[in-house]
Amino acid sequence: MRFWALVWFLLLPALAFPRVGLHDGFTRLVFDLPKAATYTVSSEKETLTLRFQGVRQAPADEEVDSDLVASYQVVPGASGTVVYVRLKPGAEAKTQLFDDGEAKRLVVDVVRSAPTGQASTPKAPVPAPKPTMNKKPPVVVIDPGHGGIDPGAVGYVVEKAITLDVGLRLKRLLEAQGIQVVMTRSRDMHLSADKRTDLGMRAAMTDSSKRNLFVSIHVNSAIRPAQGIEVYYFGETMSPSLLAQVIRENGGGDLGLQLTREARGVAQQAARDVVAQANLQFSRRLAQMVHDAMIGVTGAVDRGVQSAPFYVIRNARIPAILTEIGFANHPQEGPRLADPNYREKLAQAMAQAISKFLANGAFAQR
Ligand SMILES: [Zn+2]
Repeated sequence: MRFWALVWFLLLPALAFPRVGLHDGFTRLVFDLPKAATYTVSSEKETLTLRFQGVRQAPADEEVDSDLVASYQVVPGASGTVVYVRLKPGAEAKTQLFDDGEAKRLVVDVVRSAPTGQASTPKAPVPAPKPTMNKKPPVVVIDPGHGGIDPGAVGYVVEKAITLDVGLRLKRLLEAQGIQVVMTRSRDMHLSADKRTDLGMRAAMTDSSKRNLFVSIHVNSAIRPAQGIEVYYFGETMSPSLLAQVIRENGGGDLGLQLTREARGVAQQAARDVVAQANLQFSRRLAQMVHDAMIGVTGAVDRGVQSAPFYVIRNARIPAILTEIGFANHPQEGPRLADPNYREKLAQAMAQAISKFLANGAFAQR
């Protein structure tokens, strides 16, 4: 037991529980829960008490920079965790549970209390505001793989040019839908000449409560002829051929081996962590949606959705995926990737899937 308790505590800094989002008119606390978790909510005066069974979290006591929530306190117990949320005067909380059958997400929205006077009228449950209704649009991080001194895969096309082009097309399409976009790079550049630092800077953009989603774009290559589209979410893999690809995307050579080893360590820890697993289900769902959309519009070979220890998405606190949109060195697919119309199709499919994912409140909460 002691060992597992230690493991929990070592893991916990990577997980925000709750994740706190400041919005115009409301403050949102999101609790990612394992499938089997249960909870009760009670409130007394200005303290909201949430008792979670089957959830282990490290103690925390955090102030919140909000005019509605003063602080929250996380208190671990024998069989669960209690969270006390201290509201500011005149604030009230509304809770809503999202459950897609694989993971649960409890959303607590703290709003300004309505004026009293109709207290006897039973209130209908108020749905959590949908992102489209928020004044703050959802924020998507687009990561065009490689760049600058790092060309990535080279074949009929050069990976860094294709990923940037598709990334910029995706940016335009998402922005047209009112989604805010942050690019890890917007031109042919590396973020650092040192690949570890470069990937670390991209990865840092998955670690923010101000962003909703991260998509990394890559182009594949293979020694044996291969073609098709595959989409990844973070996790371990046992496939030696996939590991070779992961090592290449993680910087290649000795550094790629080292970063892959580190990412696999994170994946193995996450595999023992029900909360991390619950989080990864959202990334898996996003991966599936983006993958299906791209296969649907291109008719490309379906190489599936899998988990793999890609360094750039190893610590994501938001749904994060890595797409491999085709093989640079395949005699049919390489030239297809060189065609702007084909790249536009890929970007449209990604944009459609991402906006659909974000429109579903269960996934978009932050
Ligand atoms: Zn790549």
